[in-house]
Amino acid sequence: MDPQDFRFSTQISHLALDIGGTLIKLVYFSANGDNFEESSDGSIVVRSGCSVVEGRLCFAKFETRKIDDCLEFIRFNILHHSSGVKHPNGTAMDKLSVKATGGGAFRFADLFKEKLGILFDKEDEMHCLVVGANFLLKTVPREAFTYLDGQKEFVQIDHNDLYPYLLVNIGSGVSMIKVDGDGEYERISGTSLGGGTFLGLGKLLTKCKSFDELLELSHHGNNRVIDMLVGDIYGGTDYSKIGLSSTAIASSFGKAISDGKELEDYQPEDVARSLLRMISNNIGQIAYLNALRFGLKRIFFGGFFIRGLEYTMDTISVAVHFWSRGEAKALFLRHEGFLGALGAFTSYETQSHNNDLKSYHHTVEREIVNCSDDKIRHMPVTANLNDGETIECSINLV
Ligand code: ADP
Repeated sequence: MDPQDFRFSTQISHLALDIGGTLIKLVYFSANGDNFEESSDGSIVVRSGCSVVEGRLCFAKFETRKIDDCLEFIRFNILHHSSGVKHPNGTAMDKLSVKATGGGAFRFADLFKEKLGILFDKEDEMHCLVVGANFLLKTVPREAFTYLDGQKEFVQIDHNDLYPYLLVNIGSGVSMIKVDGDGEYERISGTSLGGGTFLGLGKLLTKCKSFDELLELSHHGNNRVIDMLVGDIYGGTDYSKIGLSSTAIASSFGKAISDGKELEDYQPEDVARSLLRMISNNIGQIAYLNALRFGLKRIFFGGFFIRGLEYTMDTISVAVHFWSRGEAKALFLRHEGFLGALGAFTSYETQSHNNDLKSYHHTVEREIVNCSDDKIRHMPVTANLNDGETIECSINLV
C-alpha cells in the first residue's frame, strides 16, 4: 500500500500510541466540526485564521495481543481515504508519522508501516509517563484524588508546589519514578509483581478469560478464606503490642498451607480477591518505602492496573497510610492508564515550540467503548470514542 493513500480523517489531526506489554493506549485529538470546511476538491481545510482549533482529546485502548483490532480501528476511524487535512496555505498535512511510545513502538513498527503506512516517531517510555503525568496534574482540573475509607476526594494541585513527587505506574510491571520537575526525573525503583502478575496468576488460578472477569470475581470474593490473618495465628485477638489488628494479613494465601484443600476446593472469587489484595498491598508498601528513601510526601499512582477500582485504590491507600503512619498520601489519577500516550501526544507540541494544548474544560460524561470487532467495523468515522473521559482542549495545527 502506498503510504500516501491515507490521511487523518476530517476531524482528527494528531494521534499518539503507547504500546505496552498488555495494552495499547491511543490518544487522539478530535476537532470540533466547525473548525473545518470542505474545499472544492473535497479536501478539508482548517478555517482561515483558525489554526488554533478547539476539540477534545479522545482515548481508546486495545489488548496488545489483539493488535489487529487496533489496526482496524485506526484504519476505519482515524485514518481516512483521500481527503487530506489541509492547512490554510494549501499544503497537505499528511501526518503519516505518528508519535509512539512503549516497547511495542519498536516491536510493531514494521507492522504499522506495512499495514497502515504509518511510521512511528518514537518517544522514550519513562519520559512520556512523566510528561503525561505533569500535563494532567498541571492542566486538567479535578484530575488527582485520594481514596480512603470509601471516600473519594479531589485534590487541588498547586502548580508551584507539585514537585518533588513519586510516580508509580502500575502496568504489566511497575515503575517508580521520582519526579523533580519538567523533564527532571529518575526511575528509582520498580517491581515485576504488577498488573501482569495479577492477570497472569489470576488466569492460571481461576481459569478466567479476561481482566474484567477477574475483577468481577474479586468483587464477590473474601480474601480471609485464603489469607492467613494475625487473628488466625493469635487465636482471634490483635497483636496489639506492635500495632497489628487481628484482621491484618500476616501471610497472603497462607491458609492454603494447612487447610488441606486443593485449588478446586477454593472459590475462584476468593482466590481473585486475595490476589488483588496481595499485589495492591505489595505495591503500596514498596511505593511507600521508596517515598521514604527520598522524603517524598505525595505518591501518584497511574497505570491500567488500577482501573478506578475502589478495592484496589483502598488497599493501596491503606498500605501507604499504614506504613507511613499517615505521613505520606496515595493519590490517583482519573486518566491513570493514559500517561504514556498523553506524554507522546504532547511531544507534538514541544517539537513545534508550541504550548497551546490547553485544557479549558473537562467533560463529565464517561463513555466506555468496548472495541469489539463488530463495533469497529460499523463505527462512523467521526464517532467520539472514549475509553475514559475526554478532555476538551485547544491545539495549534502548525
Ligand atoms: P502496559 O503498558 O504494560 O500494557 P498498562 O498500564 O496498560 O501497562 O496496564 C496493563 C495492566 O492493566 C494489565 O497487566 C492488567 O493488570 C490491567 N488491565 C486493565 N484493563 C485490562 C484489560 N482490559 N485487559 C488486560 N489487562 C487489563
